[in-house]
Amino acid sequence: MTPFARVFARHNQMADIARDDEPPRRLRLHRRFRDLACGDRVELDTTGEQVDHLLERDNVLVRRDGFGRRKVIAANIDCVWIVIAPEPAPSRNLIDRFLVAVLNLPARPRLLINKQDTGPAAPPEWLNAYRQLDLEPLYVSAKTGYGLDDLAAAAAGQTNILVGQSGVGKSSLVAALLDQYGLTDATAPATGELAASGEGRHTTVTAQWFPLANGGAWIDSPGVRDFTPEIPSLDTLERGFPDIAECADHCRFRDCRHQREPGCAVLAAIDSGELPAARLQAWHDLAAEIPAQTRARG
Ligand code: GDP
Ligand code: ZN
Repeated sequence: MTPFARVFARHNQMADIARDDEPPRRLRLHRRFRDLACGDRVELDTTGEQVDHLLERDNVLVRRDGFGRRKVIAANIDCVWIVIAPEPAPSRNLIDRFLVAVLNLPARPRLLINKQDTGPAAPPEWLNAYRQLDLEPLYVSAKTGYGLDDLAAAAAGQTNILVGQSGVGKSSLVAALLDQYGLTDATAPATGELAASGEGRHTTVTAQWFPLANGGAWIDSPGVRDFTPEIPSLDTLERGFPDIAECADHCRFRDCRHQREPGCAVLAAIDSGELPAARLQAWHDLAAEIPAQTRARG
């Protein structure tokens, strides 16, 4: 038996927490544990009814909401799968924003292209741009099962989280994976968090932990329309844009902002087609966030 329990899901003052081989139970949290998130490791007291101690986190995925508040999504993540599909149409800007968060965790980013059965999700040119960032796409279909073996193999033995827009098929992918590689009934999570929406579809309202028999785990996260990573400094931004950061070493001015400065190597790389203009646009959007976030923290 592992010496800790796992947070499967977080709901306001409560959390679903499971010890090895036991189904998760919904426990009320003491005020000092109100920061707990899906994926956290905790120790319970002797009654097993209360969280006693939060174990140190490897990392924590957070976002800034529309009011600039810090929102914890999940903790202890090894691999973040950014899911796109032909429908809803993918947003490069959203991928770039997720990448900043992932590369700063740090965790491994992967691009997961779902609904392979319905056609191509993105033009090859822009997928190539992500390949240069070591984001080799993996094609799958939750519907036909295409690619799921490869996905399960790539995810084995680590904690994986699915992120992306609503409707790309994150919940369907988790369901398909559980179907083929799921655990025994005893550890099967409650599906109470899948609230039926108006169209009878299921909407994930909070990140949820799903253990797999191959030693790995999947976290399904709520779909987003937009995502704002935490960017406390220019260093954070540079880690999220290694392509731009590398180019920027060759700008004439050390403090070049890559807007219209003479001798800007980033603008030159865009002119020559080496760097997609969309990447620099995402950089500028996020660079504009830094002062506001710095104020919000202070
Ligand atoms: P989520 O919001 O990202 O969790 O997306 P869902 O799992 O709720 O899926 C959204 C819609 O896409 C549902 O109608 C699914 O049936 C459909 N869907 C999911 N995966 C696939 C797939 O691989 N192929 C096709 N054709 N439809 C899919
Ligand atoms: Zn420059």
